Amino acid sequence: MIDYLIVGAGLFGAVCARQFADTGRSVLVIDKRDHIAGNVYTEKIEGINVHKYGAHIFHTNNEEVWDYVNRFAVFNRFTNSPVANYKGELYSLPFNMYTFNKMWGVVTPEEAAAKIEEQRKAAGITEPKNLEEQAISLVGTDIYEKLIKGYTQKQWGRECKELPAFIIKRLPVRLTFDNNYFNALFQGIPVGGYTKMVENMLDHTGIKVQLGVDYLEDREKWNAVADKIVYTGPIDAYFDYKLGCLEYRSVRFENELLDMPNFQGNAAVNYTDAETPWTRIIEHKWFEFGKDEDGNDLPKTVISREYSSEWKPGDEPYYPVNDEKNSALYREYRKLADKETRVIMGGRLGEYRYYDMDQVIAAALERAEEELR
Ligand code: UDP
Repeated sequence: MIDYLIVGAGLFGAVCARQFADTGRSVLVIDKRDHIAGNVYTEKIEGINVHKYGAHIFHTNNEEVWDYVNRFAVFNRFTNSPVANYKGELYSLPFNMYTFNKMWGVVTPEEAAAKIEEQRKAAGITEPKNLEEQAISLVGTDIYEKLIKGYTQKQWGRECKELPAFIIKRLPVRLTFDNNYFNALFQGIPVGGYTKMVENMLDHTGIKVQLGVDYLEDREKWNAVADKIVYTGPIDAYFDYKLGCLEYRSVRFENELLDMPNFQGNAAVNYTDAETPWTRIIEHKWFEFGKDEDGNDLPKTVISREYSSEWKPGDEPYYPVNDEKNSALYREYRKLADKETRVIMGGRLGEYRYYDMDQVIAAALERAEEELR
């Protein structure tokens, strides 16, 4: 018997494992995939750390979390500043003075604010009730039409009117010339990739790891090996979907190794029109400034086109769809989960929340501390 079985070797599972092991508990981490690190997994191709399950840029305002991850990795100075491509017109993201200048020719913050206010008033929005109204009230109709509407509909497979307003509030709006996508004190990419960072978290004599095994397929066996379980998979799958399926968005990646040094000149380019079938293209080498670990320029490049789709059984779930219907269903599942005294359920899938990495880590640290008390 061991103290804790951890189902899922992503960030929530790895942090719990480390916290338990650091306090003398025995831990077994299992994952159905053949690798650790969950969706932050990176794989080295031609010297480039490729983010296999989509781009991950670490950013946080939480000093405790920042100190924690810095125990396991050195972070570089990467600052996320995606470019939006609308039918060949390029705009700076997030929405800032560069964006407003290109869109309207305005030069001062006062002119930009006046333009947004004029468009917000014309749309007659006082209290935004959904993503469309929230977007227009933040940045006006022109930016909504060119940089938000098409992208969001591709990303979520739903009309902006049917989506919750909070999703668009993830993006800053600034009346300054600042292309930093995040309002975070700390930001960067772990040198050597995320897989290495998670490997370091799990590198402890108290932690064993077993890959390529599916907990849900052999629950009885796994439940018998430990006193307590941390489950980080989808909460609805844990309960055999007995109250119904929660909806997720899935993502498909088309990866290409190109024999050229520079494809798009930036880590992320978002295709914000409705017609281009992919949402964005990631060029992975720019997360590490186009250099290998010895500081040499890399001659080739790897790009990933991202296609968003509705999740169906067998697909990888990526984004919870936190609209009212799904949130209500999640609350019912949560009531069931709270009755499972042997099981802690956490992470993006276990809590059905659009968590960023730092929030997952903060939640895992808190949950582990509560458990160890
Ligand atoms: N978004 C948009 N245009 C963009 C980038 C983002 O309309 O060029 C919207 C879209 O609805 C998206 C949301 O902002 O779902 C949040 O974007 P974020 O970059 O945080 O999404 P993630 O990186 O988690 O996929």
